[in-house]
Amino acid sequence: MKETTINKVEKGPNHGGYPSHLGDEWQSEDLSRHEGELDEGIGLFFGFTTVSFVLLSLFIFLVLYLVSPRLAEFHPIIPPIVVFIAIVMVGVAAILLLLTSLTVVTGKNLFPSALTKGGRDKSLIMLITPLAVKLGGLFGFSRDRIASSFIKVNNALVFAAQNKTKTRSLLILLPRCIQHSKCKQKVEIDIDNCKDCGLCDIADIIKICERNSIESFVATGGNIARQLIKEKRPSGVIGVACERELLSGIHDTSGLPVIGIPNLRPDGPCIDTRVNLSKLEDAVKAFMQQDHKISL
Ligand code: SF4
Repeated sequence: MKETTINKVEKGPNHGGYPSHLGDEWQSEDLSRHEGELDEGIGLFFGFTTVSFVLLSLFIFLVLYLVSPRLAEFHPIIPPIVVFIAIVMVGVAAILLLLTSLTVVTGKNLFPSALTKGGRDKSLIMLITPLAVKLGGLFGFSRDRIASSFIKVNNALVFAAQNKTKTRSLLILLPRCIQHSKCKQKVEIDIDNCKDCGLCDIADIIKICERNSIESFVATGGNIARQLIKEKRPSGVIGVACERELLSGIHDTSGLPVIGIPNLRPDGPCIDTRVNLSKLEDAVKAFMQQDHKISL
C-alpha cells in the first residue's frame, strides 16, 4: 500500500462514507450544457490577458488622475512621485507579459533565473487570469475555454523553465471520475487496489508510473490534492482533471511546476472520464529526461 495518511481524511458521513459524485467545480451546474472536449490555442488566453492588462493599467491611471488634486493638497511633489511609481510598475508588468509570450512561443525560458524559481515567472499571469476569465465571459467565452488556453500557456512555461534531471520526484494526481463508475475497488485509498480489469485508464496509468518510478494518487478533491502535495513534497506534479479544476489547482500551487492534462469526457463531466495515455507518458518523460521535447 502507498504510504499516505491523506485518503482517510476525505471519507465523510454524508455520502455513505465517500464523496459525492460531482467534482467541486461542477456543483450546481447543468451538466447537459457542457461544452465537450476543448482544445483552445494559446492566443485566446494571451488575447484576454493583454486586454485585461491594458484595461487595468488605464483604470490605475484614471484613478491617479482623479485623486491627484487631493494628493497635491498634502504636497505638490506627491502626484508626480505616485505617477512615476505607477509608470514603473506598469512598465515592469508589460515587460513580464512580453517575456511570458516570447517564452511560450519560442519554448526557451527568457526569464532571469531568479524569477523562474518558485514560479515567480508566472506571478503576473496568475494575477491577471481571474480578470481575463471575467472579460472572456463578457464576450461569450466560457471559463473552461479560457482555462484550456491557460493550461497550454502554463505547460509551456513550466517546460521552458524546467531544470530536468532523471532523479526528479514526480507525482501524478488523478481525479476520482477517472475510475469507472461500476468499479468497486477502493483506488482512492490506494491506487494499487486496481484489479486491471481494463474498464478505465487507471491500470495503464499505474504501468506508466512503474515504468518511470513515480507515484500516482486519486485525489478526491482539491483539498486532498493540496494535502498530498504537502505530504509528498514532489519537485513536480502532473495533474489530470477537467479544465476548470486544473485552472484552480495550478493557481493554488503556483510555486510548484504543475503540468495540466485535461481529461477526456466521452460521457460528460465527472463520470467515466479518460486520459490520453500517450500524452501523459510524454509529459512524464518531458519532465524527467533532458532532451525529450513535446507539444502539449
Ligand atoms: S482498471 Fe478496472 S479495476 Fe482498475 S480502477 Fe479501472 S475499473 Fe477499477
